[in-house]
Amino acid sequence: MADWSIEEAERVYGVSQWGGGYFQIGENGNVHATPVPDDPSIRIDFKSVIEEIRQEGVQFPVVVRFHDILRSQVASLNKTFRSTIEEAQYTGQYQGVYPVKVNQMREVVEEIVDAGTPFNYGLEAGSKAELLTVLAMNTNEDSLTILNGYKDDEFMRLALLGRKLGRKVVVVVEKYSELLLLVKTAKELNIDPIIGVRAKMTVKGRGKWESSGGERAKFGLTITEIIKTARYLEEQGMADCLKLLHFHIGSQLTDIRAVKEAMTEGARIYADLHKMGFPLDYVDVGGGLGIDYDGSNSTNESSRNYSMQEYVADVVYGMKEMCDLEGVPHPNLVSESGRAITAHHSCVVTEIVGEIKSNSASIDTSEKEGEHFFLKNMRELADTFESQTNMHEVYNDASQYKEQALDAFKLRVITLEELAKIETLYWEIMARLQVWYRQEEYVPEELQELDYSLSSQYLCNFSVFQSAADTWAIDQLLPVVPLTRLNEKPSVNCSLVDITCDSDGKIDQFTIGREITDVLPMHPLRKDESYYVGLFLTGAYQDVMGDMHNLFGRLNEVHIFSYDDDPEDFYIEEVVKGSSVEDVLNIMQYNPRAMASDVKRFIDRKVSSGVINPREGVRWTDFYEDCLSGYTYLKP
Ligand SMILES: *Cc1c(COP(=O)(O)O)cnc(C)c1O
Repeated sequence: MADWSIEEAERVYGVSQWGGGYFQIGENGNVHATPVPDDPSIRIDFKSVIEEIRQEGVQFPVVVRFHDILRSQVASLNKTFRSTIEEAQYTGQYQGVYPVKVNQMREVVEEIVDAGTPFNYGLEAGSKAELLTVLAMNTNEDSLTILNGYKDDEFMRLALLGRKLGRKVVVVVEKYSELLLLVKTAKELNIDPIIGVRAKMTVKGRGKWESSGGERAKFGLTITEIIKTARYLEEQGMADCLKLLHFHIGSQLTDIRAVKEAMTEGARIYADLHKMGFPLDYVDVGGGLGIDYDGSNSTNESSRNYSMQEYVADVVYGMKEMCDLEGVPHPNLVSESGRAITAHHSCVVTEIVGEIKSNSASIDTSEKEGEHFFLKNMRELADTFESQTNMHEVYNDASQYKEQALDAFKLRVITLEELAKIETLYWEIMARLQVWYRQEEYVPEELQELDYSLSSQYLCNFSVFQSAADTWAIDQLLPVVPLTRLNEKPSVNCSLVDITCDSDGKIDQFTIGREITDVLPMHPLRKDESYYVGLFLTGAYQDVMGDMHNLFGRLNEVHIFSYDDDPEDFYIEEVVKGSSVEDVLNIMQYNPRAMASDVKRFIDRKVSSGVINPREGVRWTDFYEDCLSGYTYLKP
């Protein structure tokens, strides 16, 4: 084991690169969580978490949520803004909001609201259902409730209800007609609204969400419309209701330059509105604070080239410099960071339930009388492998023999058994070539694929579509790490496949060091020992975007709180049951009760005709019903 160490494991899996200070590989070879950075003595070993989950009788796959990480991220964002504001002698304050669309789970929102109370941290909603949620959840009258997205009459009334309740509810106008609707409704109900305008920015974010900015963005008012809005409100005697300027140029901004450019543009708009006689109280810089999913700290699409600290500094100093140049007061700053708050707090833990070895099946290839010379040729190539000098030629010859053999089989020239022997020999040669080329500096291009075609696939008890939607939909990288045995050299290169019957249900993009690879080193599976992997940073968007593909549905969840007095440093506060088969069938309009009674009737009929004996009939009926009420995932 001299060629393996925890440092080497760290290099391969990059845990401390993407872990944001919350995850490390421990000396015992297990992944550890340190959910409270202020108290590094709290260290939670995933092995104990797995044991606890099993003791609770919860089936895998499981979403594990660390509530302390949510709290730490809320505190960290707010404290970073506060200290930067102080250091910059900025005269406005920070009043952030959490956009609930990033993760609307009640427990998540409750935890964020609670952790944010000392900072007057608020909530943002972008739809009617979300608005109904934030009205009930954000009861702090000193924090903001910001409403984005398209709005109808009911939406406006709900917002104004919020005003009646004494809340700072800001309606952000996304298009001009919404303004007319809002003013009309507010006058009718005689309630003063707080109005924001969303600017359509010319600067675009970089990365996958760049179309949230630019002239073709689907949200926001042009400069002309913003001026028209201000003038209209003035005419209506409501100029002082206009309080906030909003912009959002996209999520997961990969390049800090986009943030700087947006700040310059946004600050100019704010300053000129002020000089035109519209002194706004708030500038809301939207979301976009990125997460380093691949640990490269670069402008890769799954990364970002800046830290939270640098982002905050660019927002605060960018605004300050422009305001000072223009001689206008510093506005209060709002940001709507969602991904940065929630991404780290949850992960999916599941087990590998099998290995799909590629081309490893072999049959006896010994010589037989009268066999076809294609087979002879291939065997000769295999037998003389050691004495070959031109390995590239060996590869070409073997590939050619195999292709010819396949044609010959279709033309009824060779038999099925001969073809199988040729394939067995072919893959034997490929495996030896792979070993040979590992020592070479130069590997010809067509041979670079060998590692992938000879790698295994580990069958993982989960659904990509439910639990890692972004890896499938937008090719996002997600860190995947074995949770134990990291002090052992991972000797099997493999990709992951899920249990859906969809060939897209796989993960075959990883980063190792700084390189993107299609296989990940994992450990050989052992008999009678479960092998668990974690998919990390799943707390933003993917957590709630999962779909019903193959009717797998939602995962069981455990909510973990750290607790210093406990020997394991944590306890499971809550278990939220995932979908049962019944649940997902109901959603698809089936009636599971009726299905059960139909199946019972079919069984009873077979019992009456003597095909099934009565006792067995009862067992089959019970079994069908148990499966209906059971978990949708595999029971290994
Ligand atoms: C999605 C969204 C956000 C959240 O963005 P993150 O990049 O997750 O922080 C914030 N504001 C608006 C208007 C959004 O649409």
